[in-house]
Amino acid sequence: MIKPYVADLHIHTVLSPCAEIEMTPKLIIDKALSKQIDILAITDHNSAENVKAVIKAATGKKVKIFPGIEVETREEVHIICIFDDPEKTLELQKMIYRNLPNIKNKEEIFGAQLVVNSKGEFIRKNERLLLTATSLSIEDVVKKVKELDGICYPAHIDRPSYSIISNLGFIPPQLNFLAIEISSKADIYDILLNHEELKNYTIISSGDAHRLSELSTRTVFWIEKPTLDELKLAFLNKNGRKVSLKKHRKEKT
Ligand SMILES: [Zn+2]
Ligand SMILES: [Zn+2]
Repeated sequence: MIKPYVADLHIHTVLSPCAEIEMTPKLIIDKALSKQIDILAITDHNSAENVKAVIKAATGKKVKIFPGIEVETREEVHIICIFDDPEKTLELQKMIYRNLPNIKNKEEIFGAQLVVNSKGEFIRKNERLLLTATSLSIEDVVKKVKELDGICYPAHIDRPSYSIISNLGFIPPQLNFLAIEISSKADIYDILLNHEELKNYTIISSGDAHRLSELSTRTVFWIEKPTLDELKLAFLNKNGRKVSLKKHRKEKT
């Protein structure tokens, strides 16, 4: 039976230097449950070192966690990549780490990059700056995610920086993205008014949460169960699966 699942597929943990210290596995899950969010994707910048901790913290809870990464390509475009298996996410991480400049994180400027366990206890710091461009092209990322049977789509395309539209001016059609992501407060009608070519994409909206209050309930997946295959069908609008977006409070109709 197809049912609505509220999803936020773009969440940062304390591993992302720009995320607040409250973004620990348990607090993220507690917040999701209190907002009746059914599905989350953990997508730290260029790394997946906290995904297993969040998945473990969600054991027995009524929220499904997808492991993912927000990759920064050499075009300085952010791409959300999501998988059904943390090991596949770590495969992508391997490729990212081989293509990430070896720069030490300046904690006092960017913030700490903390690896934690499922209880949110400190394990170690990732000393390498994660919040920077890799030498991977958008094509490289799309190809690797496809090999690993994952899903990827351009992040926050309405933003003036780190977005495929701001940096390339358009979405190369040969990339065959299944979806595009807009920010939680973006006005979808404004975006389509300026970029008519985007109307053929499935649009999702995510919180890009760097603090708990930013978890978004705007995107609803109409699927049978919370699996990656079902999300793919919803992106493709197939077999009765679909994505719907709740209107943002200030959005025009
Ligand atoms: Zn981003
Ligand atoms: Zn993000």
